[in-house]
Amino acid sequence: MVSTVCVGEDGQLPLPWLQAALTQALSSARSHALLVQGPAGVGQFEMAQVLAQSWLCETPSTAPVPGLACGRCASCHLFQTRSHPDFQLLVPDALRELLGLDEDEGESPAKDGEGKSSKSKPSREIKIDAVRRMLSFAQVTSARGRAKVVVVYPAEALNTVAANALLKTLEEPGGLLRFVLASSAPEGLLPTIRSRCQPVPLGLPTGDAALTWLRAKGVDSPEVLLAACGGRPQQALQWSQEGVTAKSWLELPRRLARNEVAALTDWPVPRAIEAMQRLVTDLIRTAHGAPPSYFPREALPAPRNPEAMQAWAKLLQDAARHAEHPLNANLLLESLVGQGQRLMRVSVKPT
Ligand SMILES: [Zn+2]
Repeated sequence: MVSTVCVGEDGQLPLPWLQAALTQALSSARSHALLVQGPAGVGQFEMAQVLAQSWLCETPSTAPVPGLACGRCASCHLFQTRSHPDFQLLVPDALRELLGLDEDEGESPAKDGEGKSSKSKPSREIKIDAVRRMLSFAQVTSARGRAKVVVVYPAEALNTVAANALLKTLEEPGGLLRFVLASSAPEGLLPTIRSRCQPVPLGLPTGDAALTWLRAKGVDSPEVLLAACGGRPQQALQWSQEGVTAKSWLELPRRLARNEVAALTDWPVPRAIEAMQRLVTDLIRTAHGAPPSYFPREALPAPRNPEAMQAWAKLLQDAARHAEHPLNANLLLESLVGQGQRLMRVSVKPT
């Protein structure tokens, strides 16, 4: 399978808005380890992949992005087909499908006798075994002689043991070895990991670039979902694919105020809770006279009692911690919506 998360044979970037950040990173990279950091949902993984592909490319471009992978040489072809001998990717198993990676490329979940996946959930951590394999990779000579590159995504998924095992190689990689770590929560990394990497910022794309991309992906009224996702186009696309539409988003505040749990039951539970959290954030903001962040003002009910909204926010925060494995999704949502609806009825005290 040809990867869609690197520079293609046509020389196109996987995400058009990465061009400026890549130009900057490729021209300013002085360290053997880069740390791409910024908000999630804007292309950190693609950015890390393209940096790796570019360092491995045998005939990198000179313009418009100097040093960018050409997409056509033998090395780029190996990268596109995910068979480059000088490349290693460390990601948690739980992310492989979401990133468009074939399950059988990594540690696949345990299979039972009939070849079906067992009940054990794929891990959300990058474990010591993966780092050990990377360390053996670090020992061998580069097969094609240009570089050897390791991408770690998301870097905060390294558990403590794995992170410590990575440290020494990160400090003295030796030979042609280079690293790209990517993280939307760099404060969660060991300070010793952070200090060994050159930071590469990747911020939100412009609204125009994000909207053009979402439209090309078939998202209707993309401006609504882009705002719902705080300007993060990849998250907006994911939500759209999960069944969140502009219409369902705009109707959500009023339907919840009427205690209509059905407004949320078609969405995955973590998404439903996130949606309520964003609604609460906007209700708290408008109660304090600030503009809403995620909903258009006209979709929101009149300002609510801010203390009551804080109480709902707390309930949602607690629920979000267990949202991946609720015992009974409908009961949980009914309870959260019911409590929210009661709290929305608390009168606004005159100040
Ligand atoms: Zn190339």
